[in-house]
Amino acid sequence: MKRGRRTLRMSLVLAAAVVLALGYSACRALQVSSASSGKAKNIMLLVGDGMGPSQFGAAWFYSNRILGRDLRMVEVMNAGHTAYLLNDTADAIVTESAAAAGQIATGRRMTTATVSMAADGKTPVQTIMEIAKNKGLAAGLVTTAGITDATPAAFAAHVPHRSDELSVAEQELRIGVDVLMGGGKQFFLPEISAGRRKDGRNLLDEAEAAGYAVIGDAEELKAATGLKILGLFTMGDMAYEIDRASTTEPSLADMTAKALTVLSRNPKGFFAMIEGGRIDHAAHRNDAAGTIRDMLAFDDAIGVAVDFARKHPNTLLIVTADHETAGMALCGTSEANAGIALTAIQKANASFEMISGELGRTPTAQAIQEGVREHLGIQITEDEATRVANAAVRKLDSGADSYAYLPTLAVVLRPYLGVGWVGRGHTACPLYAFGMGPGSERIKGLLHNTQLFEIMKAAVE
Ligand SMILES: [Zn+2]
Repeated sequence: MKRGRRTLRMSLVLAAAVVLALGYSACRALQVSSASSGKAKNIMLLVGDGMGPSQFGAAWFYSNRILGRDLRMVEVMNAGHTAYLLNDTADAIVTESAAAAGQIATGRRMTTATVSMAADGKTPVQTIMEIAKNKGLAAGLVTTAGITDATPAAFAAHVPHRSDELSVAEQELRIGVDVLMGGGKQFFLPEISAGRRKDGRNLLDEAEAAGYAVIGDAEELKAATGLKILGLFTMGDMAYEIDRASTTEPSLADMTAKALTVLSRNPKGFFAMIEGGRIDHAAHRNDAAGTIRDMLAFDDAIGVAVDFARKHPNTLLIVTADHETAGMALCGTSEANAGIALTAIQKANASFEMISGELGRTPTAQAIQEGVREHLGIQITEDEATRVANAAVRKLDSGADSYAYLPTLAVVLRPYLGVGWVGRGHTACPLYAFGMGPGSERIKGLLHNTQLFEIMKAAVE
């Protein structure tokens, strides 16, 4: 009975909030559409890699209930237009980033792991970034993953398989993407400089000769000037946001702010793709705190983009995802169906990747218990730690990697965190797409991700 009254009260509060939000959004939508001509000078596409509805929900609850503020991306939802988004490809219902980003970039269905190529695997398909460049706009790619990784690659390069990041690096510079920021320096450097290039070329030197400011840490990012920037802050992926404080890397929001400053100097406008690349990686490892922290870092970058769009109303801003990762669910704890345990998640001080890196491949139950206590602030039982050490998933999942005890750890932590995961791979869960500014009126109802290309193309032409 007590629970019933509480539920009723919660429902009334929620209903009131929904009515207020709807009223507000209808009001904002009217303002935006009346100011809209359908053509945009600038296009900003922000992609949360692996950002499904639960990744959004987890970050929303965390931001509102722990940090006491709303997500900036909600401003885009309320001020503009929102759609559900499907992302199936030419050959699969569940996609990966290359095909998903390629479909957004070109409007054509792609096959798994190809980078902006037709289904024959050898015919390049023109991307929205190439169209923008041909019209004299500036172009930028920013990510917390490698700059040659599938999502940024799909806008500026054409290769039969996403693993050919050495070619992607060359192509990104060859077509003259004005701003390139992220990780992945290894694909720009020759083997003699600890890179992966067997051709002996040093693309950082070549970029400098071509007029790029080449930078490598947060301080240099602040100081950088000019119209072209190549900022590569790590050899591989950049740090997870939860681990970033001990590095010299800039935040995604810092990179976004600098990118917009540089790109907006082009009088004709610009196209920019900004990716929260590590949401996906944290979710692959079933790391709830890591996922939420990278979602918040992505949201900070969206905040920078929103501020820019408000000052420059001739900007089409679109926020979406390539796919959902790992079937994240806010499932409540087993003892009381209280929902995601936000205060427990708040205690985490390291990513699962950092923790498993410290623990090694075959940690003892005791080491696991200590690592979880030290980094997650949770006291799991000896029995639970032994189950993690025995890592059933490692034996049952043929695709298991060296840190295969992480999914078992996530199952053990489920009663503590109230977050569940279906598996470790991507899912076909429908996504959100939302946008504001000229052209965003077409973001509504149910869309396929290929249609985002059409919306951006119509805005730029
Ligand atoms: Zn992924």
